[in-house]
Amino acid sequence: MNKETAPDHQKLTQMDVHLTGDWTPEEAARILKVIQKLASQTGEQSLPTLFNHRPTTLHHSNRPGRVGHTRGEDIYLDNEWTDWTLAHELGHRWNITWGRKPELELRHATRAGKLEWLKRPLRLFEKWLERFLKRLGFKNRIDWQALWYDPGDAPPPCGVDRNFNASEDLAESFAAMIFPQDAKRRAAKAVGRLTKQSEHWNWGKQFTSFDQTPRGKITHQKIRRHSPPD
Ligand SMILES: [Zn+2]
Repeated sequence: MNKETAPDHQKLTQMDVHLTGDWTPEEAARILKVIQKLASQTGEQSLPTLFNHRPTTLHHSNRPGRVGHTRGEDIYLDNEWTDWTLAHELGHRWNITWGRKPELELRHATRAGKLEWLKRPLRLFEKWLERFLKRLGFKNRIDWQALWYDPGDAPPPCGVDRNFNASEDLAESFAAMIFPQDAKRRAAKAVGRLTKQSEHWNWGKQFTSFDQTPRGKITHQKIRRHSPPD
């Protein structure tokens, strides 16, 4: 069967999601499943509206690994991409298509990102310093927790690390709406890595599902608002 006429491709095209390059039928089916999980929150008809009537194109990054990256309308997935990866990158895509307004609104609503004007340049300095020291033969990783992005009044979707920031917060919250059980596991795991300061990150202890958490409520409301009314 011609790739473009394959039913999964066709369904994705109808929702303005396009696959370029060689995707196996299994991959196309997985992509469709993730998109349909998202559509179960907005309705399939509303999906193009959710993405501001802009297309989304998926590419292989042709890199080893399990993550991805998003640039403009293009999402690049690593060779061993997971469903969570795609959900996360769709979050970035959603944020970008609305001029990063979702990220700003989430940050304000949760009062996250305290002292970020100071922490962000210091985190960049930290990474520069780490690379610099590595060249001198110091192998230790520098990771100052005091510089991590502050998640504010509500538990973060899956914990915080030194790469966490307002954009990642939004993308993780978006992914957590699609895969709340995965987010719950990730949040519990993040707590296990750290000391008691991070105990409130384990939102699964207080809430049954991510959409019950303050962040989940805000994200859910935003996803619905960027769709036409029912
Ligand atoms: Zn990301």
